[in-house]
Amino acid sequence: MNENKLREDIALTGKSLYDRGLAHGSAGNISVKLADGWLMTPTNSCMGRLDPARISRLDGSGRLVSGDKPSKETFLHIAMYEERAGCGAVVHLHSVHSVAVSCLDGLDSSNVFPPITAYAVMQVGRLALVPYYPPGDESLAGAVRTVAGKHHAVLLANHGPVVAGTTLEAAVNAIEELEQTAKLVLLLQGHPTRYLTPQQVAELNRRFAS
Ligand SMILES: [Zn+2]
Repeated sequence: MNENKLREDIALTGKSLYDRGLAHGSAGNISVKLADGWLMTPTNSCMGRLDPARISRLDGSGRLVSGDKPSKETFLHIAMYEERAGCGAVVHLHSVHSVAVSCLDGLDSSNVFPPITAYAVMQVGRLALVPYYPPGDESLAGAVRTVAGKHHAVLLANHGPVVAGTTLEAAVNAIEELEQTAKLVLLLQGHPTRYLTPQQVAELNRRFAS
């Protein structure tokens, strides 16, 4: 796809996420793969006011080629691309409900969400939990790398979700489903809940496996 169109798509997506309260302040970042590198939202930029022309352009080694300095969380994105062939875009948010779930005790680190709805199973799948590290800590990239091959959706403990998709649209749809599922998980806390059965989950995976 044309690079200028991808730049506009990133800015429009950022504004849409910001306008609906899924990103705040300078939190969250978006990247898209190019034939010879990546486009990455700049450090300290507000997702609601991205200038397409100033989005960081990185080469295949992650070095800045043009535009503003890239997000401090760029390494999270690159870890996803390097571990997932076919990954075309990555979105990372500090969205409230997902962050709240990431702070809960006793989560299953290989499958954070119980199977609440069909769309959670189909779009989020088995959500991996990665232990807490301070922002910008390179150890976080290593931790993401260990699970990224098997999980396109990863939840950073006490931090937020990182989701890979074949396209920007796919990654955004999946991270929005993740946020909605996190909200449902919180709403259902303390309520007796009927989850999808293992057979129902297997049937979804069979029908809708990508
Ligand atoms: Zn973050």
